[in-house]
Amino acid sequence: MDFCPRCGREGELIDGVCKDCFTKTHALAEFRGKLIMCPICKRWFSKGAWKSFEEAIQDGIKHIGLLIDVDVEDHGNYFTVKYSVDYKKNILDGELEIRGSARKNACDNCSRMRGGYYEVMIQLRGNWEKPYEYAKWVGTSKVEQKKEGVDLYVIKFAEGSKLVGFLKKRFKPEVKESSSMAGMKEGKHINRKTIMLRFK
Ligand SMILES: [Zn+2]
Ligand SMILES: [Zn+2]
Repeated sequence: MDFCPRCGREGELIDGVCKDCFTKTHALAEFRGKLIMCPICKRWFSKGAWKSFEEAIQDGIKHIGLLIDVDVEDHGNYFTVKYSVDYKKNILDGELEIRGSARKNACDNCSRMRGGYYEVMIQLRGNWEKPYEYAKWVGTSKVEQKKEGVDLYVIKFAEGSKLVGFLKKRFKPEVKESSSMAGMKEGKHINRKTIMLRFK
């Protein structure tokens, strides 16, 4: 019978140490993917396609050995992933925590169905890259990157104005607002707002 040089316990060894010590000293898995969700159909984008959440998570997990079991739990602002890997015929269990909110972006299907529906367009200009990092939680039907900045077609007006309020406070940009008539819906005129923020 072998014994573990790290803790002295007797038993089978994996790469020279016992199972316990192995899991303590090796990262079995980590999440390297990006979280992008369609806010309308709730599917997730991963490796060029829209998938279920579990599939997207599995795509993003880098692991040793063979991934044999994945169980994902959604806690609202973070996710936990319980998984098992088969490494050299040893079944090892681990748990991952994925923090950071998902970026919301309507999938092609949904944005076509909604005809690119949006209630407010937010245009980020000037030094827009940093502020844009804070805009990823907002539900959009389209995001257009241009030479001069990025246009966010925000589905819900309330989310858009929350974002604008935050960006104003934090970055103090120059702000320009304009409205245009976007047609009729249920007998009412719909105003569509465009808000342009220019960052220094
Ligand atoms: Zn050990
Ligand atoms: Zn969708």
